[in-house]
Amino acid sequence: MTRRKLIAGNWKMHGRSADLAWADRLSALMPLPPRSEIVVCPPATLLSGMAARVPGWVAVGAQDCAAQPDGAHTGDLSAPMLADLGARYVIAGHSERRRFHGETDALVRAKAEAALKAGLTPVICVGETLDQRQGGEAQSVVLRQMHASVPDAAAGRIIIAYEPVWAIGTGVHASPGDAGQMHRALREAWRGGDGEALRILYGGSVSPENAGELLSRADIDGALVGGASLDPARFAAIIRAAG
Ligand code: PEP
Repeated sequence: MTRRKLIAGNWKMHGRSADLAWADRLSALMPLPPRSEIVVCPPATLLSGMAARVPGWVAVGAQDCAAQPDGAHTGDLSAPMLADLGARYVIAGHSERRRFHGETDALVRAKAEAALKAGLTPVICVGETLDQRQGGEAQSVVLRQMHASVPDAAAGRIIIAYEPVWAIGTGVHASPGDAGQMHRALREAWRGGDGEALRILYGGSVSPENAGELLSRADIDGALVGGASLDPARFAAIIRAAG
């Protein structure tokens, strides 16, 4: 089974309208469409501007969505609203949302279901903390998170991002061997019979320096890139490393 690689950039809470020039710089650096699927997830304030500016081979994604389509939820943005702004993907359950906003597996699952209903592809994040890894619980924690946060859907409609919490924004990435092993465990534990079709990204301090080694592993289908996605030259180098 060949799974097309996917490289997604997560800008987190960074960026102003002037930063939409990122799209022009990326186009200039990569005049030809890469083989991988490319997604950029700017803050919601820049979604429609980014969607209008990126080259055709870059899709736009949001970083979060509400579990409801409309209603009395002040400050929230629903999946249909994000789709209306041009988003085609949405990140659900990033560890920063789980940690700073108390998002539970059940809420993450409801958000991912809302995304699917709105025609968006959810990128659902799972990952263990350093204490859990050091305690030998990494795999059980991550599989439990997957079972509880991922809706029942065909593998082709969902993307999972394995993001060890201790690797996010720290400059310390999981070894390709450890990441590959976790991706294999996730694929084998997938509820549907189509685990080989499931795309699983690795995220956590991916850089131009380590992307080649990580992305060459058979079970690593791409990367969710935080810090390094803000710089178009570094993001382009990661795209090139994906082949
Ligand atoms: C992320 O934001 O999901 C992420 C992995 O960040 P970084 O690449 O900066 O570690």
